Amino acid sequence: MSEFRKISAFDTVNRLFDKAADLLELSAEKRVELTTPYRELMVRLPLLTEDGEVKVYRGYRVQHDNSRGPMKGGIRFHPDADLDEVRALASLMTWKTAVVNLPYGGAKGGIQCNPRELSELDLERLTRRFAQRMEGFIGPREDIPGPDMGTNARVMAWMMDEYSKFHGYSPGVVTGKPLEVGGSEGRLSATGRGLFFAVEQSARAMDLPLEGARVAVQGFGNVGYWAARFLADAGCKIVAVSDVEGTLVCPGGLDIDKLHCIADETGTVMNYEGEDCQRLHRDELFGCDCDILVPAALGGAIHAGNAGDIKARLIAEGANHPTTPEADEILAEKGVTVLPDIYANAGGVTVSYFEWVQNLQQMRWDAERVDKELRQVMEAAFEAIKKASEEFDTDLRTAAFVVAIRRVAEAARLRGLH
Ligand code: GLU
Repeated sequence: MSEFRKISAFDTVNRLFDKAADLLELSAEKRVELTTPYRELMVRLPLLTEDGEVKVYRGYRVQHDNSRGPMKGGIRFHPDADLDEVRALASLMTWKTAVVNLPYGGAKGGIQCNPRELSELDLERLTRRFAQRMEGFIGPREDIPGPDMGTNARVMAWMMDEYSKFHGYSPGVVTGKPLEVGGSEGRLSATGRGLFFAVEQSARAMDLPLEGARVAVQGFGNVGYWAARFLADAGCKIVAVSDVEGTLVCPGGLDIDKLHCIADETGTVMNYEGEDCQRLHRDELFGCDCDILVPAALGGAIHAGNAGDIKARLIAEGANHPTTPEADEILAEKGVTVLPDIYANAGGVTVSYFEWVQNLQQMRWDAERVDKELRQVMEAAFEAIKKASEEFDTDLRTAAFVVAIRRVAEAARLRGLH
């Protein structure tokens, strides 16, 4: 087999799983049990578009594990959302919910489509068709979808409404909903805020003052924007931001509010005007001079070809699996600290959990309570990861997997074969 064979996204996650499973001396049977998805669905989604055309899409939901509770994870609308990618992301959700100790298992779903090419009405019809196909397999006590790349609160409201037609009003079936139909305060900014709490924890442990720290952010979607915003509020200088159009480098620091307005109005960060700003190719973000790097776009962005260029001391993974295992090794050799995705971006699913709790109890929390509880979750998880990294003398990613696998394996053992 060629050494250049592209290994699948799911195999990549399982390589990370195996590294931690070796430290835990897990048996071969246990590894198969913990990595094999519980259930996988692939559905055909025909759509009669507003223009009168018939288009057929594929939808997926991979339910990876339910040992610790109902399965949880986002729905992605993206051209790359195929079965392998969704399976990888579903397994990452199992490890993510376990590392931050939420009473959930993991799942992920997606429709292979480009939502930017769909009209609002077509998007609604496609979402409702997907919910119809899924309604027998999801539910507040079974599997609770949430937002991910290409989906938002509007899409979650349609999912909830469609499911409710079959099962009665059920706000707890999806999270990330608008506030008016059972959403939670703080959900929109939650992933960015959680990432900020994670950075705060590890910067303290590394003696890296946040005041004046230079930050580069790859991707300026929901996660990238809110992460930049909270880091800037804490005194960091956002010196570089990229999106699909390119990289914007401003050593004097970017005005995040202004950047957000411009990106919103014109569709790209590249239209920002600033005295010392330079425009580079989108791939050049990783070579920028900075102390903290936040990859907040697609998987596989940091690879063997660019990991060597990275100048940051700390990487906080806002995206899911943005770093390949080869890049991980290069970064470890360089002494770069990597806050792994299953911890660094867990703020989103954590506030989704708070939303679900509020739905089940028919209660509402204020924003202050959401932020306080999110901080507690992120701090406790950091302590658990740090402890495991000391116990096994290993990096934070492997340590996070150790914490997660131990919790899932123990729950599975206590429940018995299920
Ligand atoms: N899409 C988010 C993630 O990857 C959160 C999903 C959810 O809230 O269920 O963690």
